[in-house]
Amino acid sequence: MARLIDGKAIAQTVRNEVRQSVSAFRERHGRAPGLSVVLAGEDPASVIYTRNKEKAANEVGMVGALHKLPATITESDLLALVDRLNADPAIDGILVQLPLPPSVRSEAVLEAIDPRKDVDGFHPVNVGALWSSNPKLVPCTPRGCLRLLREVGAELKGSRAVVVGRSNIVGKPVAALLLAEHATVTLAHSRTRDLAAVCREADVLVAAVGRARMIGKDFVKPGAVVIDVGMNRLPDGKLAGDVDFAAVEPIAGAITPVPGGVGPMTIAMLLENTVIAARARLDERMH
Ligand code: NAP
Repeated sequence: MARLIDGKAIAQTVRNEVRQSVSAFRERHGRAPGLSVVLAGEDPASVIYTRNKEKAANEVGMVGALHKLPATITESDLLALVDRLNADPAIDGILVQLPLPPSVRSEAVLEAIDPRKDVDGFHPVNVGALWSSNPKLVPCTPRGCLRLLREVGAELKGSRAVVVGRSNIVGKPVAALLLAEHATVTLAHSRTRDLAAVCREADVLVAAVGRARMIGKDFVKPGAVVIDVGMNRLPDGKLAGDVDFAAVEPIAGAITPVPGGVGPMTIAMLLENTVIAARARLDERMH
């Protein structure tokens, strides 16, 4: 039986660490780090995510603010808000919730965010920094995956790691982080031939696909550490991962559940990124 990787408990540990960092920051700089979350439109999932992010920021003592904009917002009005937040010295982190309304180009908005305040780590400057082994602000969910691997004591150096899914927000940054830890990384995707055989080589298997329970026991080497990023809503309303937990759990060495695995780590890492961004900006100013 696999060791269960308790993302909920680990995320709580991270939040406690952040709370302490926030209070130390406040003592040193006379203000708490500020996080601005921007929501355009009323996509139900985005409404919940952004509310949770604002709430989590305030719970650890930061100044969390939610900017709610109508779905009819123009690109130039949204860019004007980003400019204002970029210029505001009390704001350390800016997160624009995706997806944006179709009339707004996401790239234009993400590229307008000051890279030093880009707590989602999606700005091309931060993407480039990650891939050139000089990471600054790193995407939250991938950082969450690495923290879980560290907590479970997974030996990454020299290991074989397979990441299934090559999106910019999960698969690619997870691969970059594993590479930085000296794993030998394979990035698999929808055109990968004989995916099960590729996955069976993995000491560390990360699934970020978006297909409920597609990773079955034939995909997993006995003893492997399995990180399931997938969050798939089933017809009955329940949440399922990309991994068939019941089939894989008996043979894996360690595994994340869904829910309660990677999911809770994302907001915890966003809070940590906001502290990192706040410290980096103020230290820069002092030099
Ligand atoms: P995405 O942008 O849709 O990317 C999915 C990736 O999976 C693509 O690279 C795609 O390959 C690959 N793929 C699709 N079908 C495949 C198949 N049959 N075999 C192998 N690869 C296949 O998704 P995403 O944004 O990365 O998200 C992935 C999952 O993680 C989703 O369930 C999402 O809800 C979840 N997620 C969770 C969190 C969290 O906080 N826990 C955060 C973000 C995302 P191609 O590139 O070839 O199309």
